[in-house]
Amino acid sequence: MQENEWVTGNVTISINGQPLSMTMTVPANRVKPHRMLPIFQQMSNTFVDMGVSEVESAGKAISCKAGCGACCRQPVPVSEIEVYHLAEVVESLPEPRRTEVKQRFRDAMEHFRSIDWFGRVQQIREVVEEDGKEEGMRQLSELTTEYFREGVACPFLFEESCSIHKDRPVACREYLVTSPAENCSSPTAETIDRVPIGISPSKTLTNVGNTGRLANIALLPLIRSLELAEQFPEKFVEKTGEKWMADFFTMLTHSEIPDSARKKPAGTSGTNGRRH
Ligand code: SF4
Repeated sequence: MQENEWVTGNVTISINGQPLSMTMTVPANRVKPHRMLPIFQQMSNTFVDMGVSEVESAGKAISCKAGCGACCRQPVPVSEIEVYHLAEVVESLPEPRRTEVKQRFRDAMEHFRSIDWFGRVQQIREVVEEDGKEEGMRQLSELTTEYFREGVACPFLFEESCSIHKDRPVACREYLVTSPAENCSSPTAETIDRVPIGISPSKTLTNVGNTGRLANIALLPLIRSLELAEQFPEKFVEKTGEKWMADFFTMLTHSEIPDSARKKPAGTSGTNGRRH
């Protein structure tokens, strides 16, 4: 097999009863899961576009636009594969931006360590065990609000715009609002109308390729990415692009994609591949 051989396949899934067909080209050879991120990101964009079309056809408009980075002060949750991808993105930045971004990561980590934010997040699991999931979620929500109120911008935010737009985490892609932009500076459940996404790849991504080595960490906010990538050098397994996609869709739709799916056009999901 050629090193750069690719395979193209069709997948059809059902979102809120609406069939969605996608054509995807993936590596035919075995790759690490973070090499699949551009494909997962593309899928995320497709699902978000569907959500946007739905709210727009209901007469609402998206408030988010370049130059508004109010939401980029939240603890953005990332998956294990995004931890390593973001570390690579930072390494690929030209100087002096690379040094500046790395310093911003260090400053953000130092700030939230100084108020023991990570320690308190880590205790949420014990709260869940002792006082139940509802209380755990309530306390986690308070900690998320506290993080936001600290006003520490994402290390990638420059002039209130995302400087890694094409590489931004899937959770960032899924966060769009129709409520007035000014509400985003002090967000509450009552004042923020998020665009509903019928199917959320960000949750699936937390499991795809997961090695379990970061499993003891209660939450992976973006600002921990560089530190974790350094502390735990990447040890992902390799699989073919087709196998990663099968894993992804199995987790996303909670239904198996059979090996014989290429011959089966019908069903919740299926693939139809060709090599090139
Ligand atoms: S990665 Fe980009 S979009 Fe996401 S929080 Fe950071 S600046 Fe905002």
